[in-house]
Amino acid sequence: MENFQNRATLFSIQEGSRMKVSSLVAVVVIASALRSTMEAGETQPPAPTLRHVNYVAIHARRGKQIRCQATCLPRRSSAYRDSLKCRLVRPDGFVAASARVQPGEETTFAANADWDGICAIEIRAGWHLAQVRLKEKTPHAYRSCVHGPMKTVRAWGPLYFHVPKATRYFNIWLHASVTREGLHYTIKNPDGEAVRDEEGDFDARTKIQIQVPHGQDAAAWSIEISKPKQQGLYLDDVYVELGRHLPPFLAPTPEWATLFAGDWRYDPQALKPQARLRDTKPKIEPFRGVTGPEIDRTYSRDMAKGWHTTLPFTYVLDYGSKHLGNADYVPMVGTAPPVLLHLGKDVPLNHGWGPVKALGGENQAYGTGTHIERISPAQVRERISGLRKMVDALHKNGVRWVTPYICGMTVNGDHERRTGFWDFYDHWDDYRPLGLGPRPKDDPFNWLQRHPDGTVRQYYRYDYPDEHYPPFKENHRYAACWHSEGWRTWLCEVVRFAAKCGQDGVFVDNACSQRCQCDRCLAAFRRYLKMRFTAERARRLFDSVSLDAIAFPEKKNTPLYAEMNRFWCETVRDELATLKAAGSKELGREFVVFPNGGRPTFIQRGLMDADFVMFEKSHGDYGTHPGTVLSPVFEGVTLRAYNDNIFEHKFVQCLRRRVKPIILSRAGWPRRPPSQMLNANAARLGMAECGAFSGGGGFLLRPNFGVYHDAMNEYRRFFETHPQLYAGLDSYARVAVLACPEQQWLGNAAHMGTVRSLTDCLTEAHVLFDYVSEARLEKSALERYAIVLAPEFRVVSDSQFSAVADYVNSGGHLVVIGDFAVRDDSLAERQPGSNERAPLLTVPAGITERCGRGSVSRCMRVEEALAAFGDGFSVLACPNKDLAPRVKINAFHTPGESAGRIVVHVVNYNVPLGVDAPEPTPVDGIELDMPLPKGTRTRSIAIYAPEEAAPASLPVNGTNGRTHIRIPELQIYRVIEMRLAPLQ
Ligand SMILES: [Zn+2]
Repeated sequence: MENFQNRATLFSIQEGSRMKVSSLVAVVVIASALRSTMEAGETQPPAPTLRHVNYVAIHARRGKQIRCQATCLPRRSSAYRDSLKCRLVRPDGFVAASARVQPGEETTFAANADWDGICAIEIRAGWHLAQVRLKEKTPHAYRSCVHGPMKTVRAWGPLYFHVPKATRYFNIWLHASVTREGLHYTIKNPDGEAVRDEEGDFDARTKIQIQVPHGQDAAAWSIEISKPKQQGLYLDDVYVELGRHLPPFLAPTPEWATLFAGDWRYDPQALKPQARLRDTKPKIEPFRGVTGPEIDRTYSRDMAKGWHTTLPFTYVLDYGSKHLGNADYVPMVGTAPPVLLHLGKDVPLNHGWGPVKALGGENQAYGTGTHIERISPAQVRERISGLRKMVDALHKNGVRWVTPYICGMTVNGDHERRTGFWDFYDHWDDYRPLGLGPRPKDDPFNWLQRHPDGTVRQYYRYDYPDEHYPPFKENHRYAACWHSEGWRTWLCEVVRFAAKCGQDGVFVDNACSQRCQCDRCLAAFRRYLKMRFTAERARRLFDSVSLDAIAFPEKKNTPLYAEMNRFWCETVRDELATLKAAGSKELGREFVVFPNGGRPTFIQRGLMDADFVMFEKSHGDYGTHPGTVLSPVFEGVTLRAYNDNIFEHKFVQCLRRRVKPIILSRAGWPRRPPSQMLNANAARLGMAECGAFSGGGGFLLRPNFGVYHDAMNEYRRFFETHPQLYAGLDSYARVAVLACPEQQWLGNAAHMGTVRSLTDCLTEAHVLFDYVSEARLEKSALERYAIVLAPEFRVVSDSQFSAVADYVNSGGHLVVIGDFAVRDDSLAERQPGSNERAPLLTVPAGITERCGRGSVSRCMRVEEALAAFGDGFSVLACPNKDLAPRVKINAFHTPGESAGRIVVHVVNYNVPLGVDAPEPTPVDGIELDMPLPKGTRTRSIAIYAPEEAAPASLPVNGTNGRTHIRIPELQIYRVIEMRLAPLQ
């Protein structure tokens, strides 16, 4: 949203009348419905059709306007809900202009260059298709280099590339990964003669090598991609990488190819970036944690006295296989003991194989050969006592919770050859003397998840039953059904035996993969529906099918499809609650259950009573680690891209349930570019973000104790010695965003995507906000907010609609983005009618209308929403306009106390990721302007930072129920504690 200038649009309320939107300053973004808009006189060939992330290089001249037209061609499937995002990137990596383009639209964006020379346009199309056009005379070229392909669909070209002087050969890499997709390519020399004209499926990334004859260097060659002629081979996604001997530009004209090449030379000596994070000597002492009942209370997620925030914590995931019996392991953890240590399958009973030799790893790891050899009851006994000692030593070294890996569904082997789990099942009774319960009568093959036709339901891509699961070579990987008595019994035993080792809980992988349609599940589904619906309501919702005869639906996006998903969530909830109870009973104290399953739908209905939930964030355009990615686009431009996890943290918090968020981020997948790796400062940022936004979660660090020691010790010390800044609080915000993930089950794919866009918009504008999801969509939850935003919230039940209408009628301000409540929960169209609620549905775009004692505004785009707010909602200002949007803010307060406290968290995301990254860019001159609760004043202000030994006090300034605070230089993270007093 950089430089979007959308506050140009002004909303205001006038008594009894409608006021039109007026424009204050020129808006550079012009959106229009899709039509042919090639500017008159343009003669360029059609622009390539782009997918995923691409870059265009532009030669700019100081003082001249760069103007770009971007088109987002929609995909047929509505499942792809992201919009096209374009950014014009200055040579210094900051953004000069940007645009978000909805499917089926085109947009023009522009900026005046205050530099001479090369800059870039970044085009992020996601799964949509994009085209960009520039003014005819603007020299430009597409970026294409090794590991930086131009990513297109459809035919294109010719595009030209420059072959530098004295080049004897060059390579071009081609890839069309999907089966049955291929390509035809033509490479021509400077005389326009084809030197290679071939086609193929290019399923693997393929090198094309071309010799350069004497006299054909120092000139532009060309490449063209066209449809393969071979039958059954289609042209779709194609990746083209120019090899290391070529400058990384594909230009529409030979002259531009040569212009962008400039004096580029292949440098065989060019240093490869350092690929690994280096260990450093620790500068601070290990922090082994605070102990005692007081700190236990700050970590307690107990809901008995209502919901409040808890203490955030440090967290390490370590899937190593050589922990048990390794004398160096516990001392290594002791150099920076995390609060939560998540291990691999360091358990006596492996969920998938039974008692086997190998330890560590997740499901796929150690699934062959001697690793899966069954161990004897005596060896299991020895293992239990060894694990007990190890866990005990970890506790003594400061680890609070040790949670090994189990899986909620996976069972491995071959039921006919009686290998893997079946071998153990056939010897189950040998292990009874260890305290193992009776053997389930039904063979494990009958525990498996099924399709409605009774065939085995697999979650893995291999040809079952003709092949085996590739990582296991000789065995299958099956998914078991929680509604089968055998799997329930066995998984509870796995958990009970982990608890026997003193382990504090379990991580449950694949926790949301209970999507079985076996007869047991069908019967349970029917019982579930009968409990939820009267016969009459069921008839209306499900097209008059009797609940005794109802089947699992095949059609998506229907009320019954939503119910099937809710039933699966209920299955997962029951599974996790059962495991927690079994573990707690054995352990004699509370046993932690920590599922993997970062889907908002499932968290809200299935995982809300678990202790933690992991968001496994593997894929992002720049990896998913929090911070600034300094991404080299080509020589002369290094883009500053940003990642954060604010949506995940705040969504889990908004449920106000037991569960707390945990973020797993990656440098990339499957490649891990060194520029996207998590260095120690970025690790600090990840923990700071968690402290600021989660209300009690964790941020995953890998067991690189040599890299993260100081960061982890510093943050754990800060959290545990300042629990009043984190625990026992409620969120402090005047704006709510309706975030209802179940819209997805009802065919509204746009809603959650718009919520995420809005999240970026609000955090960049420094507006304090909460989400409100379906689970709490009631008037009593809404009435604490001055503004409620409804982004593309299209399917709204009558009771949800009433909650919103009551909120508005009693004085609230609803800001609708796009469509609102056009259908009810049976998916029938809602008629506006003519009652006092009608304005909720009929207010035109750009208008604010009175409605009861409140008001309703509507805008069509996320970027326009802020204009409808009125003043005083942005609480942070910063003079540096490039850095300011990446400073993010969140606030909590002590609920229900007039003389309580407000705690404000300020996080600087201008922290470069990568190996050998520069230091964080500090931000100066930040000013807070905090609104106070009615009837209070600020008594004192203290400011903290994890790297500072003691807080500093700041002067109290302010009027009219607000307090102004000038923040000293912000490195990564500061916390401001405002103590309040009653107003006289
Ligand atoms: Zn089932």
